[in-house]
Amino acid sequence: MKSTDVLIMRPMSPLVTESLERHFTLHRGDLAEDKERFLDEVGPKIRGMAVSHVHVNDALLDRLPKLEIAANFGVGYDTIDAAACGRRGVMVTNTPDVLTDEVADLAVGLLLATVRQIPQVDRYLRQGKWLEKPYPLTGTLRGRKVGILGLGRIGRAIAHRLVAFGLPIAYHGRTKQSDVPYEYFPSLIEMAKACDVLMVVAPGGPETKNIVGREVLQALGSEGVLVNVARGTLVDEDALAAALADGTIQSAGLDVFAEEPKVPDALIRQEHAVLLPHVGSASHHTRNAMGQLVVDNLTSWFQGNGPVTPVAETPWKA
Ligand code: NDP
Repeated sequence: MKSTDVLIMRPMSPLVTESLERHFTLHRGDLAEDKERFLDEVGPKIRGMAVSHVHVNDALLDRLPKLEIAANFGVGYDTIDAAACGRRGVMVTNTPDVLTDEVADLAVGLLLATVRQIPQVDRYLRQGKWLEKPYPLTGTLRGRKVGILGLGRIGRAIAHRLVAFGLPIAYHGRTKQSDVPYEYFPSLIEMAKACDVLMVVAPGGPETKNIVGREVLQALGSEGVLVNVARGTLVDEDALAAALADGTIQSAGLDVFAEEPKVPDALIRQEHAVLLPHVGSASHHTRNAMGQLVVDNLTSWFQGNGPVTPVAETPWKA
């Protein structure tokens, strides 16, 4: 495999780059000063790619005519045009399961932080305000019903945790699932009306763009809390900022934004919202497991054993 040419275009962890360098001839577009020239030079021989925050679309695929596999670092692969890859016979893989528990933990932490205002309370203490008077009373998780948009691997792990918190769970997705006890809503708006927490965990991409807009936020209501650990593109950020400012919903906990790492000022101004810089899977343990799965997909493929975790658009037929 050492003669197989593999590409990265953005920095990846030492675990990934060092492993890839051991197994393959690795081309580091992340280190190239002139990326266009670099791609012109190495593109024609590249057979594998480890992908992190890179748009793999027809324009890039045209420059990688020998590409066989694009191994994404992350379970969400909305930066990859997987349908275009499928049409060209390029295998796409992602990193499911290894990050599920980490992201579910973060989602529950973010929900608690938002409802009980944990970051704001911390700021209050550090500013010495506790010496003057106790922090005002906060909202509560008690009595809330949680609607999960996207009851997949992570959505189910969140539901499992929140059942232990004693909260009733509902979900919305394109299909009803026969093996869960939770209430199914074929309509997102109807679920938002019935719930006071909306937990967003469905994939990004054109199909879900702005799926949480003004109407859904109005349906969630003035006691409602929105938590988004999926992708920023699922939420209409202008509508959300307006809903937070005028009390249409109570608060929001966001780990993801539409144009990361940029976060709209209109959201930053909302002191009662909790905003995180996309850290859902960002522990040493989980990022290493994700990196290892990227490497495993590439080595398995070039050893002739097929991909480990292909995405739905490029199923593996051995
Ligand atoms: P899964 O594929 O297991 O689950 C996705 C769920 O979304 C499924 O239940 C699916 O149900 C539902 N869904 C898909 N399309 C739609 C749609 N158009 N409308 C409504 N529901 C839909 O994915 P994971 O649980 O593993 O991951 C979910 C997402 O979380 C990822 O795509 C990723 O973007 C995000 N993520 C964020 C992280 C972070 O750091 N914040 C880390 C990891 C993941 P159905 O098919 O029935 O519609």
